[in-house]
Amino acid sequence: MSMPDLSNDPHDPEDDRLHRIRHSLSHVLAQAVQALRPGAKLGFGPPIADGFYYDFILPEPLTEEDFPALEKKMKHIIKQNQPFEREELDRDAALTRIDEMGEPYKREYAEELIEKKGLDGLSFYTNGPFLDMCDGPHVDSTKDLRKAGFKLRSVAGAYWRGDSDNVQMTRIYAWAFPTRVELEAHVKAWKDAQARDHKKLGRELDLFVIDEKVGRGLPLWLPNGTVIRDELEKLAREIEFKAGYQRVSTPHLTRSELYYETGHLPYYTDSMYPLMELKESRASEDGGTEQVVKESYALRPMNCPHHHRVFAARMRSYRDLPLRLAEYGTCYRFEDSGALSGLLRVRGMTMNDAHIYCTEDQARAELHAVMDIYREVYGIFGLDDYQMRFSTWDPEDPKGKQKYIDDPEGWETAQRIVREVLEESGHRIVDGRGEAAFYGPKIDVQFRTVTGREETVSTNQLDFGVAKRLNLVYTGADGEEHHPYIIHRAPLSTHERFVAFLIEHYGGAFPTWLAPVQVRVVTVSDKFAEYGRKLVDALRGQMVRAEMDDGGETMGKKIRTAVTRKIPNILVVGEREMEDGTVTLRRYGQRQQQTMPFAEFQARLIRTITTRAPEFLDAQ
Ligand SMILES: [Zn+2]
Ligand SMILES: [Zn+2]
Repeated sequence: MSMPDLSNDPHDPEDDRLHRIRHSLSHVLAQAVQALRPGAKLGFGPPIADGFYYDFILPEPLTEEDFPALEKKMKHIIKQNQPFEREELDRDAALTRIDEMGEPYKREYAEELIEKKGLDGLSFYTNGPFLDMCDGPHVDSTKDLRKAGFKLRSVAGAYWRGDSDNVQMTRIYAWAFPTRVELEAHVKAWKDAQARDHKKLGRELDLFVIDEKVGRGLPLWLPNGTVIRDELEKLAREIEFKAGYQRVSTPHLTRSELYYETGHLPYYTDSMYPLMELKESRASEDGGTEQVVKESYALRPMNCPHHHRVFAARMRSYRDLPLRLAEYGTCYRFEDSGALSGLLRVRGMTMNDAHIYCTEDQARAELHAVMDIYREVYGIFGLDDYQMRFSTWDPEDPKGKQKYIDDPEGWETAQRIVREVLEESGHRIVDGRGEAAFYGPKIDVQFRTVTGREETVSTNQLDFGVAKRLNLVYTGADGEEHHPYIIHRAPLSTHERFVAFLIEHYGGAFPTWLAPVQVRVVTVSDKFAEYGRKLVDALRGQMVRAEMDDGGETMGKKIRTAVTRKIPNILVVGEREMEDGTVTLRRYGQRQQQTMPFAEFQARLIRTITTRAPEFLDAQ
């Protein structure tokens, strides 16, 4: 195969056996594809983190339905005990050899290696009838490959050299591991992750869509997804109210001067939507008219500057502090289109934001309270696999003057406060030297997701610099003006990121308090429709998201539909239930049903919802 692209491969190519195995298997795959699709042309075929792929131009398409035949052919090749033999040819001989192979893409790449990189020659590997231009290394022979150690995974389109101006090739992905046990464990984990994928579940459960007509990275929240957003906001509002926050509402736009003042412009320009410029006509020097920019507005990429203007809206004294301003604030960031991904990477986002303005003496207690909020909210979701990355400045960083505000004493004090609070709060801490924000030390909350990914979910800062820059002041007890510390915090992150994360965490089966539909009533037959509707009305009267499936389907079908929608509570009602005033409850994911008086169900349900319990609570 071609020079391997090792960018995805964590292994050392020289001595890693797994790398050789994957690399060699990709040749075996290419040989099998050319046997099944004679005339298939080769692109690249590197090892990757969990296996390998190979790109082809095919005379006739291949789909996943062809995998059994391909795998069979590959196993046959492995059994043939084909030795891998290396051959090195000088430039001319190499090009002649490639022409004999009839591989136009290999030829293009070979020319590039020779002409642009100035290589004197190229190496080739042969195994059985298959010849590839390749740097190696490989196993000695196909007998060193395990027939049960690989599995074809998927087919995808991929542009030659990753450039959309080039021809589109067919990429076949495969997993490969040293043993069957490792392979099977990996495939299982991959399938679990697929089943939990937030884009897939977002579609199946009608949570959100991304509509090209509205714009890339700008999700539209459907009614079901909006329920989840609203529940998260309600949770945040309650917790913040109890912790003494005050809510504010600020616009999504601002005059761009504000961002020049904060220093976001011009440095942050690339991450922002272009400015909106309002122009007016003026007389020009040559006697005509010209258009000049009268005002310029920016879609805000963050909420902080608006909150700072709320702080500045009044004279502030030390008696006003701490001032805790909270808002689910909407921001817009112009993320690179290639980076956009479902709800995880978006251009429009709404953040559980707050800024706490306080004195240096108060900073510690305020940060402690923020850490308590983290523990409280994550506890509600049963999230405990997280750690706090403490990001500090690096005084030895040669670029320090541009990277950090130049105030060594300020850094020392702020970092001491953060470190002490983190240690006292008992969270797990990891070190992030040199990762601080411009204005102060940072705490990133990092989760390990159920599928094993590391995600930064939320970020806090103890900011000692921006108040000076923006001249935000309060009058101290000494009658002098002082700059407040500012804590930036967002425990529930953005709706977009957090909901993506929760979809995956719950596999779409949300607990009752968060579920878009909390109860669905299913009747055994139409005879009980009236009773069913009475139950729905009673529940809705208590603000429960209850509904009835009165489609003409059989009961079994209705139950299956409700299960597909991952509705947490299904109430089955028939003759006996109607006569006794009872309901039969089927909980999502549980086999056992329980019949109980409707009043009991109602009471337990309300407790389950108001306490945001993960399970359906018992009667109390
Ligand atoms: Zn190779
Ligand atoms: Zn902020």
